[in-house]
This record gives sequence, C-alpha cells and structure tokens, in this order.
Amino acid sequence: MKITNDNAKELRNDFPIFKRKINGKPLIYLDNAATTQKPQRVLDAIQRFYEQHNANIHRGVYQLSEEATEQYGRAHAVVGKFLGANANEIIFTRNTTESLNLLAYTVHAIMPKRKHIVLTELEHHSNLVPWQQFAKRHNMSIVFIPMKKDFTLDYDAAEKLIGGDTAILSVGHVSNALGSINDVKKLVSMGKNAGAITIVDGAQGAAHVPVNVKDINCDFYACSAHKLFGPTGIGALYGRKELLEKLPPFLFGGDMIKTVSYQDATWNDVPMKFEAGTGAIADAIGFAEAIAFIQTIGLENIAAWERELTQYALKKLRLPGITLLHGHDSAGIISFICEEIHAHDVASLVSDDGVCIRGGHHCAMPLMGKLGIPGTCRISFSVYNSFEDIDQLISSLAKIQHMFKEGGKT
Ligand code: PLP
Repeated sequence: MKITNDNAKELRNDFPIFKRKINGKPLIYLDNAATTQKPQRVLDAIQRFYEQHNANIHRGVYQLSEEATEQYGRAHAVVGKFLGANANEIIFTRNTTESLNLLAYTVHAIMPKRKHIVLTELEHHSNLVPWQQFAKRHNMSIVFIPMKKDFTLDYDAAEKLIGGDTAILSVGHVSNALGSINDVKKLVSMGKNAGAITIVDGAQGAAHVPVNVKDINCDFYACSAHKLFGPTGIGALYGRKELLEKLPPFLFGGDMIKTVSYQDATWNDVPMKFEAGTGAIADAIGFAEAIAFIQTIGLENIAAWERELTQYALKKLRLPGITLLHGHDSAGIISFICEEIHAHDVASLVSDDGVCIRGGHHCAMPLMGKLGIPGTCRISFSVYNSFEDIDQLISSLAKIQHMFKEGGKT
C-alpha cells in the first residue's frame, strides 16, 4: 500500500495513543527512532494471549501449553522470515542491547584469535560499551572506521582497517543519531574476506530498510521489536545456524538444557540453547503481530513515505539559526542544532505544543564528541506522520527562536 499524506493520517486511527491530547493539543510523535507507537492489533494480540492461551511453553502437554508453544514457535518463524532467516536461527532476547551483550559474552569461543574489534565512529552505546568490556576481558583493542564530513563512513579507510588483525567486525546498519545508512553488505564482505566474525546492529535498520540477512551475509543481526511497532522487552538475534551451534550459551537454567545431572548438563538445540528461563511469550506473539502489521503495508512503502517526509522536513528546516547534520542517504531520521538553544530546551519547549522530539546525545556520546557538540535535536518519522506534523514542529521552533531572541519574553 503506497502511503500518502491522507492515508498516513488515517493510519493514525489504528494507534490508540493518538486519541490522547498533550496540553490540550493533538499528539505529534516524532521520536520513532527511540520507539514506535503500537497499533491496536498488536495490543489485541498480547491481550488475547493472556485471556485465551496463557500457559508456559515447552512444559505442558495440555492444550493451553501446546497452544502457547505453537504461537511462540510461530513467532520465531515470522521474525525469521522478516529478516530472511529460518525460525531456528532466531533467538528471542530482551532487545538489541541484550542481543549484542549475548555475543559479547560468548563470541570469543568462536572468533579467530586476533587483536582487533572493528566498529564505526557512529555506534550507539549498545554496540560500543559491550565491546569495550569485551576488549578489556580479552586483552584486545577497538579500532573505528571513521565517518567523513558528509556523515557517511569512509569505506576506503575501512578497507585498510579490516584485515588480518580483525577478529570481530560489528557495525550499525543505520545511525540512530544522524540517520546515515551504512553499506553493511560492503562492510560484511570486507569482514568475511578477512575471516572475521561479522555482526550488524540492526536496531534502526530493521525498522527502515528491508533486511535480508542472507543477502547481507552477516553472521549475526540484532534488532528490537519496540522500534517496529511491537512491544518493549523483546528483541531478536539472528545467528547463522552453524555458528549458533558452536557458540556457548549465554545464560544457564531451565529450558536451555537437554540433560542435567547433579554435576553437569548438556545443551538444548538452537535457539532454545540461548533462551534460558521463561521468555516474553506474549511479547513474542505481539512482535509477530507487529510484523504482520508492517507486511500489510510493506516495509518498502513505509520507507518510501519516511523518505518523502524527510525531504519535506529538510526543505522546511533550512532556516536561519538551524544547522542540519544530515547526509544524503538517511532513514527517516534528521538531526539538527538550534543556534544558542540547548537541544534539551528545544525538546522540552516543543512538547508544550504536543510535539515529541528527542534532544541530547542519543546514546552516541563519542560521536557527539567528534562533532564537537553536546547533542542535537532529533526528529524521526514513521508511517503515521504527516506533513502537518512537520509544519507544527516548524511553527513551534519559530516560536522558541523568537522567544530566545527576545530574551525569554513570549
Ligand atoms: N543500536 C541502535 C542503533 C539504536 O538506535 C538503539 C536504540 O535506540 C540500540 C542499539 C539499542 O536498542 P534497545 O534499547 O532496544 O536495546
């Protein structure tokens, strides 16, 4: 379904939160890179599970448990298909952060014994801090693929950095701070040629770019349901089957074992080997429903609409006192700075008009340091945003600029 301004506004009716008013004004939600709003059908699917099918999985032979097990298994298959993978290559985690931590606690067992972890200068803290700790534990160092002035990666530098010293290459698909889309296929191919383990942080990628992990050819791909219209508290880690089989478990306990004696244990098949304890069953079902929602529209169509909104907003934001930090290829995310007004003040003041935007370092402090700024204002689009949302933001910004110019008088 091609999205137009009219049907974007109509789609809002599927999202109960848009019935809310903020300060008596309609809610304008432009913080979709942080988390998306949830359609009614996702909320219904979660409620339906608790009302009609609630039981623990894999443990009962009674009907409810069989239904819950079947639905949870189906959720693996739906997420797998969405990412171009098989059901048994999908591990449910809490979120992208936990998926990356899972790897940072286990991947040493299967990586080549070399000294470098290669990341990019654009990483979110979730794809940086776990590797810093990993590097300390394993006496390794991190090297960074630099970002160029146009906010894209320097692929020539990447070519030189990724080589015989590279044990792990872990790169973000889309920068949450600037919206830049990285050519992960190209980077993964460099990593593969060097014999490294290749990981993609897809927290933003899966939401804005149709993903096929087999085409990217990465070993692992991490994402979160809550950025894809699904519930919080559930994410996925895709892993190439033969690597998941070699990778040691991350957490130990019930469900992840095959046999247990008083002294030792053996591990269940993948993905159960990595899903210790009772998982977020209802949320996994909500995740699958969110993907069904995306598929009724088509991620390509969502991405096309986000690109249209981005172009519209970029034109409108070319204003005196506003500096855009934006490359040529972006996934519905725009960062900008308002001269002499702190990003937190901007975010807090536009919220008086019901407009939700993000102000700050966006969990990318080193990147902000490189740019020489404490933070940016960030807007990020989704399927239910319209041109009028952007117009309202622009008029709120004009009001704030005027207020600051007048020394605080409105
Ligand atoms: N990586 C990127 C690029 C992100 O944008 C985010 C969240 O904003 C994360 C990782 C972490 O995602 P989560 O908080 O769902 O674990």
